[in-house]
Amino acid sequence: MDLSAQLDPVLAVARASAHEVDATARFPEEAVAALRASGLLGLTLPTEVGGLGGGPHELAEVVSSLASACGSTAMIYMMHVSAAMSVAAAPPPGLPELLPELVSGQALASLALSEAGSRSHFWAPVSQSQRNGAGVRLQARKSWVTSAGHADVYVTSTLTADADTVDIFAIPAETSGVTVAGQWHGLGLRGNASAPMAVDVQVPESYRLGAAGGGLDLMLQTVMPWFNLGNAAVSIGLCQAAVEAAVQHTSAARLEHLDESLSALPTIRAQLARMSIELACTRAYVTQAAGRLAQPADDTMLHVLGVKAAANDAALRITDSAMRVCGGAAFSEHLQIDRYFRDARAGHVMAPTADVLYDFYGKAITGQPLF
Ligand SMILES: Cc1cc2nc3c(=O)[nH]c(=O)nc-3n(C[C@H](O)[C@H](O)[C@H](O)COP(=O)(O)OP(=O)(O)OC[C@H]3O[C@@H](n4cnc5c(N)ncnc54)[C@H](O)[C@@H]3O)c2cc1C
Repeated sequence: MDLSAQLDPVLAVARASAHEVDATARFPEEAVAALRASGLLGLTLPTEVGGLGGGPHELAEVVSSLASACGSTAMIYMMHVSAAMSVAAAPPPGLPELLPELVSGQALASLALSEAGSRSHFWAPVSQSQRNGAGVRLQARKSWVTSAGHADVYVTSTLTADADTVDIFAIPAETSGVTVAGQWHGLGLRGNASAPMAVDVQVPESYRLGAAGGGLDLMLQTVMPWFNLGNAAVSIGLCQAAVEAAVQHTSAARLEHLDESLSALPTIRAQLARMSIELACTRAYVTQAAGRLAQPADDTMLHVLGVKAAANDAALRITDSAMRVCGGAAFSEHLQIDRYFRDARAGHVMAPTADVLYDFYGKAITGQPLF
């Protein structure tokens, strides 16, 4: 699928504002507007509902390209896709217009899963809904929500009323009781608006995605595969940008007294080689994981677990090396390597965190239950 007609204009807008978005920690409104207009918000949604019908490979391509231009825009986009895919998997009957709006770009979605009480264990909300005559009362403290205050719909988890299972609801942003409850000051992905939110809403049961108690399955079978792949693709894009910037800078920077460039130093060029090779290996793994999602096999879940951890860790190493080979110059904002370095650290702590994924992967290959 050739996506350049949709993607190139978005990349131009995202690239032009990325530095300022990071410096001022503001939401990348213009890049998100370009995404809405491009049709890419419906990239992975089925053609029957007007989406582009793209799959995991297309997602990885679009997200990694966006991340090379602006990490915040890429993460906002991939949170939208993860939320939209869960809506497509189990459309809430009470919101029949939601899927078409997600496709058309009218609605930007996000995931509101993490809670203050259960921290990065996103699969275990501690909030519990209550059933009443009017439907469901949902009260939750969501500790970080990407696009908080900017999304049009929040895909939100909570414990099922009177049960120890999980429900997922689509909560339109205009619902009374949906409020941004703090500010986002991140080390990286500073444009994400990943602020805490307070949810105290009364919604009909028909806003639920799937059957009562089906939330954990939806998170594990739909949200996690798309989220982990998309998050890994953000890491790839940041690595790509860091490698390019490091090669460019070390090739251009001169040691005039020796009449050579920084990249002529064996230590520097060996480090550049290691970065480039690790990027190629990790990209190949991400492509393989995308293939396993597109055509499920026995080891698909292993790829889902492994791909985010591997790509997040590669991003930490590669962007750290880029800082190192570019020396003091990397601290100056014109190289933008500091931004890639800071943005890369965010993917690592986004749940499921890399360390949790290693634990799950270890359980999976030793025949132990994940939970
Ligand atoms: C930029 C950004 C955007 C985010 N956007 C969203 C969003 O849109 N929606 C959303 O729901 N959440 C979002 N989050 C929240 C995120 O998914 C995590 O829930 C959050 O980062 C966890 O932080 P914490 O301090 O609670 O981590 P903790 O849970 O306190 O973890 C601390 C450390 O303990 C480790 N740890 C915890 N449990 C285990 C375990 N079982 N095994 C091994 N190690 C473990 C972790 O890996 C981590 O290193 C976002 C976070 C960031 C940074």
